Amino acid sequence: MSDMKIKIMHLYPDLLNLYGDRGNIECLKRRLIWRGIDAEVVSHTCDDSGFDLSDVDILFLGGGSDREQKIVCSRLLEHKAEISGFAENGGSIVAVCGGYQLLGRYYKLEDETIEGLGILDIYTEQGSKRLIGNIVLESELAGGYIVGFENHGGRTHIGSHKPLGKVVYGHGNDETSGAEGVVYKNVVATYLHGPLLPKNPKLCDHILKNALIRKYGGGVELAPLDDELENKANEYIVNRFVKK
Ligand code: GLN
Repeated sequence: MSDMKIKIMHLYPDLLNLYGDRGNIECLKRRLIWRGIDAEVVSHTCDDSGFDLSDVDILFLGGGSDREQKIVCSRLLEHKAEISGFAENGGSIVAVCGGYQLLGRYYKLEDETIEGLGILDIYTEQGSKRLIGNIVLESELAGGYIVGFENHGGRTHIGSHKPLGKVVYGHGNDETSGAEGVVYKNVVATYLHGPLLPKNPKLCDHILKNALIRKYGGGVELAPLDDELENKANEYIVNRFVKK
């Protein structure tokens, strides 16, 4: 065991909890522990008072329905300064779907607008049909393909932000731009739900490495893991939808 440790905070797991997004936290934790690095996971729910990010390394925000996003937005806005300070200081944030939208300026629904944290200079508008299905991206961050599943009514416009990847199959941020997600400092925001990190171990390691470097300095190297099964699962999806 090294003396390194990473603390992961799951934000509002009581509301933002679609499609087992929390499995991504298990993946982050496991890939640290397999390398002898300690990992602690804490949750901050709607019932918790106090909010302290001072020793947190990775924040995770999952997806949620419009209804849940409306409830959670006021809670998030109470901590706007801390969360944006954390992001600006190189803190790692992983945000999925509804969580991704809430990092932006707003999410406009037919009858109301949900205010976001404004950490990303992006906005989301509800479209006429939901964008649902398998999705494959090309991403330099993952050194190849990122595979996943998307299900969103919102269309996110990312302006001059850098996307997580280029859509090679599926819909992505807004159906038309061919971009998916956003990468900003150590923030990775994406529409890809469910087992994003188990299916894309290189992306998981990218996030872990950033968090370790922020905490322990530039010399940190991640020991290789046996990702044969993970890579096969990733390749299977790429072959099914892209290299037919
Ligand atoms: N409610 C948002 C939308 O439909 C996010 C959904 C989600 O997290 N899957 O766009």
